[in-house]
Formats: sequence, C-alpha cells, structure tokens
Amino acid sequence: MQTNFSAAQLADPHVAESEKILRKCVHCGFCTATCPTYVTLGNELDSPRGRIYLIKDMLENGRPADKEIVTHIDRCLSCLACMTTCPSGVNYMHLVDHARAHIEKTYRRPPLDRLTRAMLAFVLPYPGRFRAALKLAGLGRPFIGLFEKLPALKPVAAMLKLAPSSIPPASPMASPGTHAGQGAKRGRVAILTGCAQSVLDPAINETTISLLTRLGVEVVVPEGEGCCGALVHHMGREEATLASARRNVDAWTRAIEQGGLDAIVITASGCGTTIKDYGFMLRLDPAYAEKAARVSVLAKDVTEYLAGLDLPEPVRKPGTVVAYHSACSMQHGQKITRQPKELLAKAGFVVRDPREGHLCCGSAGTYNILQPDISAKLRDRKIRNIEATGAEIVATGNIGCITQIAWAAKLPVVHTIKLLDWAYGGPKPEGVSDAKPVAAE
Ligand code: SF4
Ligand code: SF4
Repeated sequence: MQTNFSAAQLADPHVAESEKILRKCVHCGFCTATCPTYVTLGNELDSPRGRIYLIKDMLENGRPADKEIVTHIDRCLSCLACMTTCPSGVNYMHLVDHARAHIEKTYRRPPLDRLTRAMLAFVLPYPGRFRAALKLAGLGRPFIGLFEKLPALKPVAAMLKLAPSSIPPASPMASPGTHAGQGAKRGRVAILTGCAQSVLDPAINETTISLLTRLGVEVVVPEGEGCCGALVHHMGREEATLASARRNVDAWTRAIEQGGLDAIVITASGCGTTIKDYGFMLRLDPAYAEKAARVSVLAKDVTEYLAGLDLPEPVRKPGTVVAYHSACSMQHGQKITRQPKELLAKAGFVVRDPREGHLCCGSAGTYNILQPDISAKLRDRKIRNIEATGAEIVATGNIGCITQIAWAAKLPVVHTIKLLDWAYGGPKPEGVSDAKPVAAE
C-alpha cells in the first residue's frame, strides 16, 4: 500500500513503525474472511482491511480520532486472526496498538464510557481491588435487567453477569518465594502470578506449581510482579501499560540475576502474548530495551515449556473426550497450536477440534464488558461449535476464555494444565467425571 507521510511525521518512531506496517498491506482482503467482527457484522469497516484504511487515513492526515474510527477500532477484538491469515506479514497488532494509543490521546469519549473504562483500569489489574469488586457485585445483580435496557449501562450489566457468585480464597502459593523441585533438578522457572486469574481461579497456578515441582522444576514466584499490562494496553493506556511492563521486567531480572531462569512460565495466553511483546514495547527505552528483550525470549506458555521437557508416561490415562479451545492469544498471538493438544493426547485424553476454531469466543480482555452484544454472538457461536464435537469437557489455556465459555456452556470448562496434572497424578479437576477410565499401559 502506498503511503504519504511527511518526513516530520516519520521522525516519530511510532508513526515510522506504522508506516512500515501499512506499506506491507496489499489490499488483498484475505483477512476479512477470518475476522470475527466482519463475519458477524458484514461491514468492511469492521474488517481488518477496513480498519487499516481508517488508521492510515487518521495517521497520514495527523488527525485526532473521530467517532467513526473509534467505533470500528473499539469493535476490534485484537484476536489477531487477521495476522494468521495475512500472506504479506502485516503486523496488525502493532498497528492497532498504535491506533488505540492515538485514540486515547486525541478523543474524548462520552462520560459513561470514560467512567467505565477508568473503573476497569482501576480495578481489574489489582487482585485486592478486583476481589473487593466481585464481592460488591452481588449488590448490583438484582438490577441487571434494568441496566441491560439502557444502552450506556450495558457494560455494567455485562460485568455483573460475568462476576462469579462465589470467589475462591487467595492462594498462599501466589506469595513471593521458591518452590523446590522434587528429585533430580530439571530446570528453574519464574511463574507469572498475574491479576484477574489469581482471583477467579488461583488453582490454575497452584496446579502448575504442583505439576512442575513434581517433574523436578524449581518454581520461583518473584517479589514485585503483577498484571502484565494487557488489560490497559487494549484500552490504549500506553503509560500504564509500560509501567506494568517495567515493573515485571525488574522483578524477573532480579530473579535471573539471583539464580538464572530457564523460562518465565505463563498460564494465561493473553498475558503471554503481551509479555512476548515487551521487547518491542520497551525498544525505545534505553534503560529497559535489552532487559525487556531478554524477558520476552524467556516468556513461555506453560504448555510450550512442558512440551520441551520430555514428560514421562502419565500415571493414569483418563480417556475423556476433550474439546480443545485454542484461545486467540494462543493460536494467533503466540502461534502455539500443536503443543497443548499433543500434551493432552499423550496424557490419555481424546482431543477434538471444534469447527471454526480460528474464531474468537468474544472474551478478548475487557471486550465482553465493553462490547457485550457482539461478544455474546461470538460466545454462542463458539459454544455451538464446541458442543457439536460431542466432548465431555472443554480445555483451554486462557482465563478470559474459561470465564466467557463457562458462563453459557453446559460442559465443564477447565484450564489445560488441570487435565495434564490429573493425568500425571494430581487431583481430578472439579466438574469433570472419570466415566471412561483407561488403564495406563
Ligand atoms: S484483530 Fe481480530 S477482530 Fe481485529 S481486525 Fe484482526 S481479525 Fe478482526
Ligand atoms: S490479508 Fe494482509 S495484505 Fe491482505 S488486506 Fe489483509 S492485512 Fe492487507
């Protein structure tokens, strides 16, 4: 695509990066067929190609964002299916990240939208605040029907609907410290404690630590880590995102210096995509560029790390039929497609792929709160495809997808690591039946 930026515009490294991306796009439109918002809404402006044109026009003309571009960029899930499809290697992720930061700086949203976004940014990345908010959600639940009738309050209704009625206690394993590996030492890793997942399902990281240590891996929970920044990143809040990235880079750099790390293990693929991008996000910061690049190289999804460990035969082979839902951040963001399914199959599960596996479930960070109507359509479509597999359980590697799908699905939805842990001698995940046990050979 031809571009027309001035030399002065290109002096801004963010604009220069976007220009490079724009020039790669050849307008072919292949990406439209796999874009969930185009498939759902049928409007070219809600397709990757349409958004790319809108972004180009805004940046080239140095214009502040307007209502039209905000509408169509807000509807983008950042699922990155377009990047998987694009034959020209267009880095839509970095382009839309730049557009969102530009929107945040130049566009004044309506008051209720501003308030909702400010509240999400204030609450979600902080486990203490999120836990308190979930407890308060019970008070608002009787008003869901009323809030749903008022368009401006639909996000509040969506938030209340998604909030679980009970929250598990905080995990002592999330506190800073070291969990020694059993037997011969096979590695040393840090684990991301994160934010929302540690409140909604602390057992995911507990299970990960338990399985890794049983396999001989030492697991460090470093002092000072926190939210990876993805939640605010998708809202265009650049400074808050970079502050989260710097804090985590500092925490992991200390852990590297104190004993080395083979990997930074991440159990939420949405966080993994962001942390693997820290090197790019902090490339212009001389104090952090090198450290951030090192962190991004070490970042591994837990299934990616386990796949490199040469696992022993499982203790039991459950034989359960599992529908594997590949989160967008797993398959499109990190290009991890094989490892989770191969690990599950090796552990004795019968793995099935739902149709339209490339399409997002509609969770996408805060998308299911901010765009509840499109999100619900995608969720229902995803659940229909999952249920058509005839599986007994859904496995996935992202807490956002777990919450989104479990909200409406009849099947139990569990993190992949819980199924692997079960096969390797851990407890049976809640809600899962062992109706078809198959003896280990
Ligand atoms: S990130 Fe997803 S929703 Fe956004 S343009 Fe690409 S495919 Fe469409
Ligand atoms: S597939 Fe790639 S090159 Fe083709 S229109 Fe989409 S982004 Fe542009």
